Amino acid sequence: MTAPGETTATQTAASRALFDRATRAIPGGVNSPVRAFHSVGGTPRFMVRGEGARLWDADGNRYVDLVCSWGPMILGHAHPAVVEAVGRAATDGLSFGTPTQGEVELAEEIIARVEPVEQVRLVNSGTEATMSAIRLARGFTGRRKVIKFAGCYHGHVDALLAQAGSGVATLGLPTTPGVTGAQAADTLVLPYNDIEAVRAAFAEHGPDIACVITEAAAGNMGAVAPVPGFNAALREVCHAHGALLVVDEVMTGFRVSRSGWYGIDGVAGDLYTFGKVMSGGLPAAAFGGRADVMARLAPQGPVYQAGTLSGNPVAVAAGLATLRNATDDVYAALDANSRRLGDLIGEALTEVGVPHRVQYAGNLVSVFFTADEVRDYEGARAAQTWRFPPFFHALLERGVYAPPSAFEAWFVSAVLDDAAFEVIAGALPHAAAAAAAAQSPEEGS
Ligand code: PLP
Repeated sequence: MTAPGETTATQTAASRALFDRATRAIPGGVNSPVRAFHSVGGTPRFMVRGEGARLWDADGNRYVDLVCSWGPMILGHAHPAVVEAVGRAATDGLSFGTPTQGEVELAEEIIARVEPVEQVRLVNSGTEATMSAIRLARGFTGRRKVIKFAGCYHGHVDALLAQAGSGVATLGLPTTPGVTGAQAADTLVLPYNDIEAVRAAFAEHGPDIACVITEAAAGNMGAVAPVPGFNAALREVCHAHGALLVVDEVMTGFRVSRSGWYGIDGVAGDLYTFGKVMSGGLPAAAFGGRADVMARLAPQGPVYQAGTLSGNPVAVAAGLATLRNATDDVYAALDANSRRLGDLIGEALTEVGVPHRVQYAGNLVSVFFTADEVRDYEGARAAQTWRFPPFFHALLERGVYAPPSAFEAWFVSAVLDDAAFEVIAGALPHAAAAAAAAQSPEEGS
C-alpha cells in the first residue's frame, strides 16, 4: 500500500526505451560508468527535471534525490538565484576566451573561504584539477613519484587510477587497460588511514616523492573519514621530506563546511583541488594553493596548463551564485539532514537485524553492510556488498534516488523537507527487509 506522500516509481518504459537508444549511440549508454546501474542491475532512470530536493524521470516518476548530481546541488535543483545568475550570464554571451570579472570573483571567494589557498586556477572538471595539481607538484619539486591511497578517487587521471574508488571500485576493476606501465610506474598506492605505510614509503623513496594526494576525507569508497591526526601527520611527513601535500576537496569542498574539510580539521595542504559545489552543477573546477607553488604555472612560470573554456562565464556565474547562497544556515541544514538520513537508515537496518555501519565524513554519509568500522578500502570491500542492490531498488521503487553503488557516498541537499523525509522513512523499512532477504553469492551458487 502507498502511504500518504509516498510515490511509487515502477513505470520504466520511457527510461528503458531511451536506454536502448543510448546503448546504440553511447558506449554502455552512459557518459560516466556508475550511471549505467551495472552493479545494481535494472534500468537507469533518465531524468527530465529537478526542483528543490526532487527529480522527475522520463516516465513521470518523482524521486527524493540523495545523489545531488554526485555532490554539487547543495541548494537543491534549479535554485532560483542560481538559475537567474546563469540566465543573466548566458544572455551576455556564452564564452569569450578572455579574462572576465566573474572568474576573479570566484577565485577570490574560494581564497576567502579556504585560508591556505592563496591563488586559484579555474579548469573544467575535477579530473583536470587533480591532473594539473600533480603536474605542478612535479614541476615545483623536480621529482617524479606520487603517493595515493587505495579507494580514493581523483578523477580518471592515468597516474591516479590504480586501486581507485568510485566507478573503478563499483565495477571491481584493479586498474584499467590503456594506462601504460610507464604512466603508473611513479604512483605508489598505500592503504588509507595508515600513516606507518606512508612513513615507510618516504623512508624508501623520499627524495623521489613529489607529493601525496589524498581526499580530504574519503568519499569514493563510501564515507570514510580520516582517523584523528592522519591528515596532520601526512602534512608533517611530506614537509619533512620536501614533498607537497595535495588535498583533494572536489567532493568535500564547500559541502562539509563553508571551507570544506579544511573548515573541519584545519590541516593546511600545499595544493588543493575543488569541483562540484563551486560550479553549481555546471562544468567547472579549480586547483589552488600556496602562491610560491602556483607561481610556477604558465604564463608566470614554466609548468604548462591551459583550457579553451576554463573560467567559462556561465559556469562561473552558477558557481558564484551557489557559494554566495551557501550561508551558515545552509551548512547547518546539510549537517542536520545528513544525520537525520543516517539515523533513519540505521534504525531500519537495526530493526531487521542486518549488520551495518552508517558512516559519516562531515555530512557525507553512507552505509556499509558490515559490523566493523570501515577505515580503508579493504574494509569497504569486505562488507556484504551483495545486500546493496535489493536495498537500492526497494528505495528506488518507492521514490528515493540513492547512489547506484555500494561504494559511493550519499549526498543530501539543504532543502530536504519533512515531506521528503516521510518518503525516505516510508521506503527504508522495505529496503531494509530486501537487504535482510538478500542472498550472498556463495549461498546462491
Ligand atoms: N576528486 C574527487 C575526490 C572526486 O570525488 C571526483 C569525482 O567524483 C574527482 C576528483 C573527479 O572530478 P570530475 O568527475 O569532475 O572529473
